[in-house]
Amino acid sequence: MRLVNNSVHKLNAIANDSMTAITIDAAGWLQTVDVVPSPNFDARPESDKIRLIVIHGISLPPGEFGGGYIEKFFCNNLDPDAHPYFAEIGDMRVSAHCLIERDGRIVQFVSFLDRAWHAGVSDWCGQDNCNNFSIGIELEGTDELAYSELQYASLANLVKSLRLQYGDIASDSICGHSDIAPGRKTDPGAAFDWHRFRQSLAL
Ligand SMILES: [Zn+2]
Repeated sequence: MRLVNNSVHKLNAIANDSMTAITIDAAGWLQTVDVVPSPNFDARPESDKIRLIVIHGISLPPGEFGGGYIEKFFCNNLDPDAHPYFAEIGDMRVSAHCLIERDGRIVQFVSFLDRAWHAGVSDWCGQDNCNNFSIGIELEGTDELAYSELQYASLANLVKSLRLQYGDIASDSICGHSDIAPGRKTDPGAAFDWHRFRQSLAL
C-alpha cells in the first residue's frame, strides 16, 4: 500500500512538473531542453511577427523510432549509406524549431526568432510562405500510429510556453502541416488527436 501511494505521489510530481512553463530566453531559446543547432535557418522578414504554430510528424527511417536520425537530418549529417531512404533525402536542407521524441524529450534546433525551414510551399488563411511567421514543431511519429502520452504532455507544455512568450499566437492559430500544404503533406496525420490536444491547452 505504501509503495502504491509513493508511486502515485511520484506520478503527480512528474505531471505537475510537466505543466510548468518552460522559460524562453530573449534570444528565442528554450531553457532546460537539449539544443542541437541546425544550420538550416535564416532571418524572418522584419514585418512578420510569430503568429502560427505548425505541428508536424516525422520518423526516420519512416516508421522507425529512436536512432537519432532526425537530429542528423536537420543538421545535414545524415549518412546516405545508413539506409536507402537516407540517400533520397540526404541533400534536403530542412529543419524545425523543435522535435518532441517518443519519450517526450524536447530538442530545439533553431531559435524561435529565426525562420526554420519546415513548412515549404504553404498557405494559411491566404498568407503564403508560412515559415515567415510560424514556429514548426515535429513530433516523432507516423500518420497512423498514436502519438505517446509523454508527447502530448510535452507538446501542451511547449505550446503554452510559446503562447506566453509570443503574444500574437492566437488560440486558434495552431495547425497541422497538412492544413497549410493540403494535397502535398499529410502530417501529423489522422493519428494526431486534435480534440485531446486542444483540451490539454485549456487546462
Ligand atoms: Zn511536416
